[in-house]
Amino acid sequence: MPSRDPIAEPWGSRTPYGPGRRWPARVDLHLAEGVGPEDVDRWVPSASILHSNGDALDIAVKDGRIVGVRGRGEDRVNRGRLGPKDLYGWQANHSPDRLTRPLVRRGGKLVETDWDTAMGLVVERSRRLLDEQGASALGFYTSGQLFLEEYLTLAAIAHGAIGTNHLDGNTRLCTATAATALKASFGCDGQPGSYGDIDHADVIALYGHNMAETQTVLWSRVLDRLAGPNPPRLLCVDPRPTPVAAHSAVHLAPRPGTNVALMNAIQHELIRTGRVDHAYVRDHTVGYGELVRVTDDYPPERAAEICGLPAERIREAAALLGGAERLLSTVLQGFYQSNQATAAAVQVNNVHLLRGMLGRPGAGVLQMNGQPTAQNTRECGADGDLTGFRNWNNDAHISDLAAAWNLDPMRIPHYAPPTHAMQIMRYAEKGSIRFLWISATNPAVSLPELRRIRETLARRELFLVVQDVFMTETAELADVVLPAATWGEKTGTFTNSDRTVHLSEKAVEPPGEARTDLDIFLDYARRMNFRDADGRPFPQWHDPVSAFEAWKRVSAGRPCDYSGLTYDRLRDTGGIQWPCDAEHPDGTERLYTDGRFWARPEECESYGRDLVTGAPKEEAEYRAANPEGLAMLKAVEYVPPHEGPDGEYPFTLITGRTLYHFHTRTKTGRAPELRRAAPEVWVEVSAADALEAGVHEGDPVEVRSRRGVVRARARVGGIRPGVLFVPFHYGYWDTDAADPDGERDRAANELSATDWDPVSKQPLFKTAAVRLRRVGAGDGRPSPAPTTTASAPLDAEVAATRGRPDTLEEPDGGGTR
Ligand code: SF4
Repeated sequence: MPSRDPIAEPWGSRTPYGPGRRWPARVDLHLAEGVGPEDVDRWVPSASILHSNGDALDIAVKDGRIVGVRGRGEDRVNRGRLGPKDLYGWQANHSPDRLTRPLVRRGGKLVETDWDTAMGLVVERSRRLLDEQGASALGFYTSGQLFLEEYLTLAAIAHGAIGTNHLDGNTRLCTATAATALKASFGCDGQPGSYGDIDHADVIALYGHNMAETQTVLWSRVLDRLAGPNPPRLLCVDPRPTPVAAHSAVHLAPRPGTNVALMNAIQHELIRTGRVDHAYVRDHTVGYGELVRVTDDYPPERAAEICGLPAERIREAAALLGGAERLLSTVLQGFYQSNQATAAAVQVNNVHLLRGMLGRPGAGVLQMNGQPTAQNTRECGADGDLTGFRNWNNDAHISDLAAAWNLDPMRIPHYAPPTHAMQIMRYAEKGSIRFLWISATNPAVSLPELRRIRETLARRELFLVVQDVFMTETAELADVVLPAATWGEKTGTFTNSDRTVHLSEKAVEPPGEARTDLDIFLDYARRMNFRDADGRPFPQWHDPVSAFEAWKRVSAGRPCDYSGLTYDRLRDTGGIQWPCDAEHPDGTERLYTDGRFWARPEECESYGRDLVTGAPKEEAEYRAANPEGLAMLKAVEYVPPHEGPDGEYPFTLITGRTLYHFHTRTKTGRAPELRRAAPEVWVEVSAADALEAGVHEGDPVEVRSRRGVVRARARVGGIRPGVLFVPFHYGYWDTDAADPDGERDRAANELSATDWDPVSKQPLFKTAAVRLRRVGAGDGRPSPAPTTTASAPLDAEVAATRGRPDTLEEPDGGGTR
């Protein structure tokens, strides 16, 4: 069987295929050194939680320990392929520094204790604050890493039992804009498209989406199409020379923060050249006249000036999109974490509506997620939405939810949208939130302007509960730390970006006294003695299966309807896409195939917001604009970023992921192969800027913004001049800590600003103004940035990033099952 080095060849070998054909299977297998397939005691079905692709895999178990993984060849998502993070990330489960006992702060130090003591403190503080101030004193900030059953339970506790509006997920950082853009265009969240659209598309447009690094297996699917007959042509919008850009027919590298101007010019060209499906627009949309009026002011020449691009390239991009017969678009952080995030993402939806490119094979939009279970936070209402995609502003939806939970509707706060993460932090900073329970996320590294976040979380007046797998930078600041079980140690479901639901089963026991997040939340609910309207314990469920059954009931009839799914079906079939109900027993590959949207005023998830100010719209306004519930073309003017480069801070900083790490590296930083591939933070600088600053490959440099500093070695690469890139989420847990002068100097978010998109409230990580300074001569070593990715060096002498050929690939997918 051929073997490969997944670090050097993250996308594996090619299995080419043509349009309309089924993606050939290729099963990837990696086992710990010295373990052969014959040694494995059990294979336990699951999927990856280290990206949003949802790669289906089986966990290999031997002697009660995880010893490897194998792709599931029959699964619709990955057809057996696994990426480097899938193959190696599981090793973090065995890390010797797992949290195994609860901790409480005594005399300024965290000390071990038992569960009763730790939970007793959490309950005592919750009760006291509820008595003193009411529900608004309590806030919850969760993850995109838990399971559906856990988010449902958390949402029921926060919104239903306690009645606080302060519940959000870190999905606010990565998918809030996806959800908001889908609601703005189609009335409701949920991806219209499917990963299967890659098999059919003749043009694939990737907007701010470095798929090659964020979703390696999905990129393998694209590479296989590119290697087959009649390959699709790609459009890439990204200021960095990503692998996506390298394979594109047209690559646009706009000035950061100018996406709306670019999208307006593209639509201007589509309209000017008559590339509009007028019948589709007439029958299925509202807003065309206003769109024509606004985009009329954005000829390519104007956008070229704003974006710093040749007008001709913009025309080429528009011609590519306009000539497509089957257009698939994907969008990610380059749009979502940038200036005018929602407005820009909505313009991508507009292109599809203009061209009638929805609801048929190859014609789809994927407003992508960054995290594996981000979709579930949205569906379950743990991230600023309400459970089952319900509209907080629609009393009938609140009554409906209250009936499903058997609660008085007045217990569910709906005087305003649920509080977003940055506002939760602000309330904590100002002192009105006095209890914050953070589960499976690490804001002390991942939120903007870290100095301020650290100070907020460390406030003596704030009672901080942190539930996690490791002692993160956030857990270090907590009053109570609760040790959680993780993937492979618990059972539950999760849903990827294209609505595919997988079941992940418990393979091994969690270490020490660690408990599943579901058990912890339910234990809290029981200790708090929450009751429903009939005096029964609330939530009424008690384990993963009963939670899933409760979810089926509360999602029934909503767009994210899971009522046709069971654990047994998922166990037998693998991934199935929602909605899955009596009408669609096998799931649903594409939404809106009939041109009918979830946008009628009675059913829509949101009445929308103004795309410039973010002001929420009222029902009457929505009804007047869209009485029949058609899709909405939304026009918007370009507005420059709040902070742009100037004489003092002449560069724009963008941040992002690299292929070998995920999040704040709590798991991937503990997988030796991944750690070796991208061990340290770096600063990417263009050749022209490096020359001017006297910087060479590997030189130590300092990047400074108005908020802080990062020091690292320089990678001289192909990034757009005037722009610097620093990979996000290198924190401090694996360093000897701070600089002698007291400055933390490693995490990209030392530099970013407290600023967010007015519509989706997603923080803007990609437009900080910074300056660059060489701080000394290099020692001849290159920067630690990977060479296989967008951070590839211009200097040909830099040694290639490599691992070991320890993964087996079976091309036809047979044999290993
Ligand atoms: S690291 Fe990426 S996936 Fe995770 S929250 Fe941030 S943006 Fe989202």
